[in-house]
Amino acid sequence: MSEKDRLRTYRGKRHFDRTKEPSGDRTDAPAGNREDEPGDDRTEPRGERPARGDEPVFVVQIHDASTMHFDFRLEVDGVLKSWSVPKGPSTDPHDKRLAIPTEDHPMDYRDFEGVIPEGEYGGGTVIVWDRGTYTPTSHDKQKRPVPFGRALENGHATFELHGEKLRGPYALTRFHGREEQDGGSAKPTWLLVRAGSTGAKSGGTPDPRRARSALSGRTLRQVAEAPDAPRWESNGGGKG
Ligand code: MN
Repeated sequence: MSEKDRLRTYRGKRHFDRTKEPSGDRTDAPAGNREDEPGDDRTEPRGERPARGDEPVFVVQIHDASTMHFDFRLEVDGVLKSWSVPKGPSTDPHDKRLAIPTEDHPMDYRDFEGVIPEGEYGGGTVIVWDRGTYTPTSHDKQKRPVPFGRALENGHATFELHGEKLRGPYALTRFHGREEQDGGSAKPTWLLVRAGSTGAKSGGTPDPRRARSALSGRTLRQVAEAPDAPRWESNGGGKG
C-alpha cells in the first residue's frame, strides 16, 4: 500500500485549511530515505547519546482534547503507527497501560506541537512530551529477528526506547476486549508495558498538566496560550 493510501484515514478526518497539523503530503520522502536528512531535528539536544541515525523514531505527544491522553507513535514503514494511551506510558513494569490504536499519522507529525482548533478533529492542545529513536527487538521462536511491522500484525512487538524521558525495553501486546458483548464489533485494544524488572518504580505516571515539551520546554498551558511562540532552540545542532 502506498504512503498516500495509508494516510487516507488521517487526511479524511482533518481540514488542513483549519488545522496546522501536517497533511503528510510529502510524496518526495518515501520510507528509507531518512539517511538523506543529516542533521535533522532528531539530533540529540544533550549530545549524550550515540547517533542512531538509521533507527526508526518514536514520539509521545500529550493531547489535551475532549479527554486528556497521550499519543504514542512509532515509525513503521514510513508512517507513524499510533496508539492513544489514556494514562500515558509508565516506567514501572507493573503498570499495564491501555493503548487504543488510532489512524496512522504522517512522519511530520512527530514535530507537531500546537493547538488544534475547537470543532476540528482532536481539537485541543498538543505538546511533544518525548521523542527519540527505538530499536525493534522482536524475535521468533528460533530467535530470528521479526520485522517490526510484522510483529505488530502478529499482535506482539517488543522494542527498546531511546528517548529523553523513556528509555529501555517496552512491549505492545494486542488483546481483544469485550468482543462477545459487542457482537464482534469491538476494536482490538493493546497494552503498552515497560518490560523487564529494572524500570523505575516511582514516578511511573507522568502528570500531563505539569509535563514539559521535549521540543520546546513548554507546558500544555504555555502552548495553549501562545501556540506560535518561537521554539526554544536546543544546543545540539538542530535544524540550523
Ligand atoms: Mn490524540
